[in-house]
Amino acid sequence: MIITDFCTGCRACEQLCPTHCIYVEPDEEGFIVAKIDENACVECGVCVKRCPQNNPPEKNVPIRVVGIRYKDNDVLKESASGGVFIALASRVLDEGGIAVGAAYLDDWKVGHIIVNDKAFLYKLQSSKYVQSDTFRTFSEVKEYLVKGRKVLYSGTPCQIEGLYSYLRKDYDNLFTIDLICHGVPSPKLFQKYIKWLETKNRGVILYYNFRDKSSGWGLGYKTKTKTKIITKSAALDPYYYHFLKGDIYRECCYRCNYCTRDRVGDITIGDYWGIEKEHPEFYSTKGVSLALINTPKGMNALSDAEELFYIQESTFERAVKANHNLSRPTERSSMRDTIYLRMNELTVEELFEKELKYPFNLMTALKGIFPVWLKLLLKKMK
Ligand SMILES: Cc1cc2nc3c(=O)[nH]c(=O)nc-3n(C[C@H](O)[C@H](O)[C@H](O)COP(=O)(O)OP(=O)(O)OC[C@H]3O[C@@H](n4cnc5c(N)ncnc54)[C@H](O)[C@@H]3O)c2cc1C
Repeated sequence: MIITDFCTGCRACEQLCPTHCIYVEPDEEGFIVAKIDENACVECGVCVKRCPQNNPPEKNVPIRVVGIRYKDNDVLKESASGGVFIALASRVLDEGGIAVGAAYLDDWKVGHIIVNDKAFLYKLQSSKYVQSDTFRTFSEVKEYLVKGRKVLYSGTPCQIEGLYSYLRKDYDNLFTIDLICHGVPSPKLFQKYIKWLETKNRGVILYYNFRDKSSGWGLGYKTKTKTKIITKSAALDPYYYHFLKGDIYRECCYRCNYCTRDRVGDITIGDYWGIEKEHPEFYSTKGVSLALINTPKGMNALSDAEELFYIQESTFERAVKANHNLSRPTERSSMRDTIYLRMNELTVEELFEKELKYPFNLMTALKGIFPVWLKLLLKKMK
């Protein structure tokens, strides 16, 4: 039996299966895929029926669209854009709830964890541009919901839809945040990338942040070994360059059902790219998030926390201009298959230095040393 042709690896079916005969396994490319143990399967069909890819639930049309920035600058600097996630998560924890999101784990795996202590919320901050494993968080979260605890669950739209499919109903104490998402690369490729960085920098990678803000809000990473701190623009790194170009995503991302205006989460968050043109007075080098408030629950969550933020009212039409994944999935590139095929044949050096080549961009290299005011001027002139 085939569960779906379109598995996103959300893991809802595995936790729904009454005979526990579904398990997940990484495929050749390193993405986890749901499999059935045919000997134990009783063909009840629950997995096929409940798979969100076979039966997509109704989505929500955004009610309010805002540019938004957390007022706490110390916390904001560790967030990818405007810190909307961390501010709302802190509020939920203050009310005795829990927050769920993606964190770096051992060996540079990325997975969803449950946080119930504010001291550990930082682990969920910032974007990890690789597929996160939701493990068994759907069933764990259900236990909290049934006990009446507030739950904030954040993730890519396919993960949020997986959670709803697993739960079968909405709970008043559940609040979901889905991300605007380009697509997710494979955990295996990301681990190889970290190995390559370790060889190149002659040291174990102790820290990695895709969204370093030391020279302002943008797309650049910071990594640390015991003796070195390296910061680099996305355009000058093989993994990050090909991530942004759309060359290394999971196959289903190129046919994603969620790259639309209509959303699965109570609130959708992303970077407010283009804010310097749409609302120039609201631009900040500290970062600005875009938030689509999609449900009455989302409206209440934001109005309850409104004093934590600077807010700029906007519209979907303005927001979508520089955020294409709100209107269509990323186009599948011709390089995608070669990269994943070659990943298993080449050494990490060959893979990242030959196969994942990127054009040298003098302007980007120079921008790395430009002061922030000059970068802003260039952005406005574009
Ligand atoms: C794979 C991926 C693709 C993205 N593509 C776009 C895009 O095309 N356009 C856009 O505007 N924004 C995109 N984003 C969202 C953006 O990078 C920021 O996460 C968003 O702006 C929120 O910023 P923040 O400052 O409010 O949140 P932060 O405080 O930085 O919190 C980060 C949030 O993202 C979640 N998260 C981080 N990594 C993952 C992951 N691998 N899987 C699931 N959840 C994760 C955390 O759980 C947390 O909820 C993408 C994020 C990811 C992870």
